[in-house]
Amino acid sequence: MSSEIRLFNTISRKKERFIPLENGKVKLYTCGPTVYDFAHIGNFRTYVFQDLLRRWLEYRGYKVTQVMNITDVDDKIIAGINREKVSLNEYTARYEKAFFEDLEALNIEKAEYYPRATEHIPDMVALIQKLMEKGYAYKGEDGSIYYNISRFKEYGKLSKIKTGQLKPGARVKADHYGKESPYDFALWKAWDEADGEIFWETSLGKGRPGWHIECSAMAMKYLGETLDIHSGGVDLIFPHHENEIAQSEAVTGKPFARYWLHSEHLKVEGQRMAKSLGNFYTLRDLTAKGYSPLAVRFLLLSTHYRQQLNFTFQALKAAENAVERLLNFMERLNEADGAGTSGLLKNLMQKTQTMFEKYMEDDLNITEALAVLFNFVREVNKLMDENKVSRSEAEEARQLMYKLDKVLGIIEKAEKLFKKEELPKELQELIQKREKARKAKDWKTADEIRERLRKMGIILEDTPLGVKWKIRRARKSES
Ligand SMILES: [Zn+2]
Repeated sequence: MSSEIRLFNTISRKKERFIPLENGKVKLYTCGPTVYDFAHIGNFRTYVFQDLLRRWLEYRGYKVTQVMNITDVDDKIIAGINREKVSLNEYTARYEKAFFEDLEALNIEKAEYYPRATEHIPDMVALIQKLMEKGYAYKGEDGSIYYNISRFKEYGKLSKIKTGQLKPGARVKADHYGKESPYDFALWKAWDEADGEIFWETSLGKGRPGWHIECSAMAMKYLGETLDIHSGGVDLIFPHHENEIAQSEAVTGKPFARYWLHSEHLKVEGQRMAKSLGNFYTLRDLTAKGYSPLAVRFLLLSTHYRQQLNFTFQALKAAENAVERLLNFMERLNEADGAGTSGLLKNLMQKTQTMFEKYMEDDLNITEALAVLFNFVREVNKLMDENKVSRSEAEEARQLMYKLDKVLGIIEKAEKLFKKEELPKELQELIQKREKARKAKDWKTADEIRERLRKMGIILEDTPLGVKWKIRRARKSES
C-alpha cells in the first residue's frame, strides 16, 4: 500500500501526507443533501469530487467506510410541507429518491451509510445532554438550546474566523449565517408555530435538532470519535464545519477529523449560479437538453477540486467529445490486429500509469492525470493508424484503460449504457435500407437516410468491408 498520497488539509492550509488512523482503512464523512429540492450541479460538483477521492483511495488499496447524512428536517423542508400540505415523509422521500437516482446516473459509488436525521434524534439529544453537562450549552429564553462558543477555546481553528470580534451571548437560531460575527448557535430548536406538526418531545423539550448537531452525532455514531477525512464544499467551512468541531471535540476531547477537504465553488458562464439569474441547473435540466450524465460527470471531475469550476455549455460539449474519444479508442483497441510495436507500447503504458498515479497522489491532480491519459490515447491511436498494435498489445492497453477508469468512473459505465446491441430495430432496418439503396446506386435515398440517422446521433462510415456505424454516445440526439 502506498502512503505517498498528499492531501490539502484545510485546517493546516497545507498539503499533508495522508496517513489514516488505522492501517489500510479510511473513515470518510461527507456532508449530504438537504432533501427539500433537486440537487443542483454545484452540489454535484462536491459529490463527484468526493467520489473521485473515494475511488482514488480504493485504487490505492484502502478500504473506505463512507457516511453521507441525509438532512430530512430543516427550515426549508418545513416551509415546503406547509406550502404543499403534504407529510414530512412524503415531501422528503420524493427528493431523496431523486437524489439517489442522480448519484447513480453520475456513477457515484455508494456510501456505506446514508443516515437520515429524523432517524437519529435520540443520538443528537444524548450529545446535546453531554454538552449541557459539560457546560458548553445553555437554554435560551426562547427554550432553544445554544452552544456557548466562548467556552470552546479553539473556536475558529478551521475557518480562521476572528473570535476577537466575538459578541458574547449573541445568538442565532437559523442554521445558516454569515462569517461577519460568530454567534452562539442552536443545537436544539424549541418548537414554534411555524414548525406546525414537526417536533419531537424529548428530555430537551418539544422541538427539533439544529443542522450542525446532526453531522456530529451521526459521524461519531457510525465512524467513531475521530474521522480520517471530513469533506464538503467550501461554503460549509463556516459555520457548519467549525460548529461540528466545537460540538464534537468539546465532548470527546479528541480531534474530530484528521483531514478536512473542501471543494471550491462552481460558477455558470462566469457568474454565480442562482435561480434569479436563470443560470441554475439540476442534473435533470441537463439530461432534458440531451446531455449524458457521464459528460456532466466528466466536466465536474476534470477541474481540480480546489479550483473554481466555470460551467459552460461549450465545456460540456467538450466533455461529451472527451467521453466519445475514450469510447472510440476502446473500440479501436478491440479491433486492432497489427504487427506489434516491439515493446514500444509496453513502455508507453508503464509511463502512462506511473505519471497518472504520480499526479493523483499529489492532492488528486486530476487535470494533469487526464492530460497523461489523453496523451496515451493519442499516441496509441497513431500506432493503430499505422496498423502497428498487435492483438495482445491492444488487449493489455484495454486493461490499463479499465484499471485507470476505476478512478475516473467513465468508460465502463459508458460502455454499459451505449452497447451496440441496444440499437433499436427500426434503426438497424434503416441502415439496411440505405445499404440496398447504395447497392442500387440510389445515392439520393442513401444520403437522405444517412442524414436522418445523423440527426438521431448515428454516424455511418462506409468502409471497404461494408458500412459501419457508431452512436454519438455522449449525446442522446442532435438537431
Ligand atoms: Zn455536515
